Amino acid sequence: MSKVLVIGAGGVSSVCVHKMAFNPGIFSEIHLASRTKAKCDAIAESVKARCGVDVATYAIDAEDVPALTALIEQIGPKLVVNLALPYQDLTIMEACLNAGVDYLDTANYEPKDVAKFEYKWQWDLHDRFKERGLMALLGSGFDPGVTSVFAMWLKKHKLKTIRQLDILDCNGGDHGQAFATNFNPEINIREVTANARHWENGQFVETPPLSKKVAFDFDAVGPKNMYMMYHEELESLARFIPELERGRFWMTFGDAYINHLTVLKNVGMIGIEPIEYQGQQIVPLQFLAAVLPKPETLGATTKGKTNIGDIATGEALDGAGEKTFYIYQICDHEDAYAETGNQAISYTTGVPAMIGAAMMLTGAWAGEGVFNMEQMDPDPFMDMLNKHGLPWQVKELPAPVDF
Ligand code: NDP
Repeated sequence: MSKVLVIGAGGVSSVCVHKMAFNPGIFSEIHLASRTKAKCDAIAESVKARCGVDVATYAIDAEDVPALTALIEQIGPKLVVNLALPYQDLTIMEACLNAGVDYLDTANYEPKDVAKFEYKWQWDLHDRFKERGLMALLGSGFDPGVTSVFAMWLKKHKLKTIRQLDILDCNGGDHGQAFATNFNPEINIREVTANARHWENGQFVETPPLSKKVAFDFDAVGPKNMYMMYHEELESLARFIPELERGRFWMTFGDAYINHLTVLKNVGMIGIEPIEYQGQQIVPLQFLAAVLPKPETLGATTKGKTNIGDIATGEALDGAGEKTFYIYQICDHEDAYAETGNQAISYTTGVPAMIGAAMMLTGAWAGEGVFNMEQMDPDPFMDMLNKHGLPWQVKELPAPVDF
């Protein structure tokens, strides 16, 4: 029985808050704060209608540390769940340190002025969280999040070592729009247009954006083109699976998405440097985000499934030499929408955020300092995935990946 404060009121937050409300035995009191209070109120209304649970709502600028500290102290939660944007991670962590409250997020810190994200800034806060006797859990979404827990589950139950790891993120959903992103367009486009990086023999190797493409036949979705990209869990996986020789991340994109993105890039619409327009400073990517369909409006029309998982090769625990396993989760956009009013991309992130919060509030996962998902026991988290809408499956493959 614990009080929780969720910050941010987008699609991920909406799913997470609904899922918390479905589990009142763990989340006895839910508070929701974001920049625009009306968005918190809309989520609270839906939660009341679907689950009969009250959610208290507040307006807050999460970059204003004194105001956020005061709000946390006023509410007195056991945990702050950060589902705002990666830009706010450090200020929310700072406010948690001030107020003496545990912290959880789903994406690592990214400065607004450089298209770069890494764990360094948040890992640097480890000693301060430890000294305060507090826990911060980083990256409790799907990827990062579940993909790291999948790898550690394989390492606990199937493989003594992981030599090679490929994370495959497939969204087979169709929203019926010419071009739209499934989550925050600014974050999504910054991620996709960054150089690809993968882990190989003790270091990251950089390649041009979207330059390596492979066709893969996904269970329940069918064949799709996937592109090698950099994704933040590669940094923590390389750290916590020290024997890893090669780690890569792949995401599927349709040809229409790639064509639109190429044109937008060529005409300068994805720039993050401010430009002068009619006497006003505007950031092209932020302007683009303002004119694109809002991700939270896509749920009603999106059909199809997501399939996200890990393929890992290493020395088998049963002593039978080298083996390869594929562990993955399939989520249906329409089912996700029926349950919480959000599509599967928000659903597959919001559910693991709720489960990570449950792990911390029930004490199943505990510690003092800043932690990644790889450092925790995968079993209780994997059990909750099965029970709360994200069932997973694992199968042995005849050979390591050949791409
Ligand atoms: P949205 O853009 O839909 O929602 C973000 C919310 O944060 C909005 O309600 C926004 O408020 C609020 N916000 C922004 N700035 C501030 C601020 N300064 N103070 C208070 N609130 C603020 O994003 P999503 O719901 O799609 O994503 C949420 C998070 O989840 C992101 O960090 C994203 O990177 C992460 N994510 C992680 C994934 C994973 O698998 N690990 C996958 C997908 C997303 P307003 O409405 O006023 O703008």
